Amino acid sequence: MNPLQLNGIVKQYAGHTAVDGLSLEVEAGEIYGLLGANGAGKTTTMRMVLGLIYPDEGSILYNGKPYHSGLQPLMGYLPEERGLYPKVKISDQLLYLANLRGMKNADAKQSLRYWLERFDAMEYENKRIEELSKGNQQKMGFIAAVIHRPQILILDEAFSGLDPVNVEMLKEVVLELRSEGTAILFSTHRMEHVEELCRHLTMLRRSKPVLQGDIREIKKSYPREHVLLRTP
Ligand code: ATP
Repeated sequence: MNPLQLNGIVKQYAGHTAVDGLSLEVEAGEIYGLLGANGAGKTTTMRMVLGLIYPDEGSILYNGKPYHSGLQPLMGYLPEERGLYPKVKISDQLLYLANLRGMKNADAKQSLRYWLERFDAMEYENKRIEELSKGNQQKMGFIAAVIHRPQILILDEAFSGLDPVNVEMLKEVVLELRSEGTAILFSTHRMEHVEELCRHLTMLRRSKPVLQGDIREIKKSYPREHVLLRTP
């Protein structure tokens, strides 16, 4: 049974359909690409997966079960708008988030140290988010998403706003988490990131899944569509 399963989910906002009949499954140890332009429905999908909003139709299953309050520790989320408090000391809020998701203090501290070292960011431990560059804020947001070692990781445009060196660093970490068995739902508007990291993708266009499956098969079957995907 796969950690994450979406079955025909539909979401409407005041008569406007934001997500229209999306089904997909993310395996353990897989990075699944959710590809689409601005407004295609990626963030709405991720917010439904997180249980922040509910689908009007369809269902979402986590290890085969519907959403329940005990799921929080299983999930990690890097929102597009990052979501950390600008004025609170970084180590305080990251440890608080780890505690909130069920980690004991000692484990949380060890995990924080690991991730700060991993991102070459030990110097930020006692700083506030507002003192950091956008790229470094994003790294802290990423640590917030993974500090408790979630089974399911939701990454919304994780690489946007990062310089190439940091994109490479984050890619390496995402691949490492995949090899450890994390199920990762990865949204982006850039095909090259999906090609590099993912085996399966769904392409959303104006709320609808228009292309779905194994990327290698898609490239064989739709060479022209592939060219279209690459066009900015
Ligand atoms: P982006 O990368 O620009 O965030 P996206 O693919 O994540 O794009 P969504 O944010 O999911 O797209 O938006 C899908 C559609 O739903 C858009 O037409 C958007 O305007 C609409 N929408 C999203 N949130 C709301 C809301 N709270 N109320 C009304 N409409 C919304």
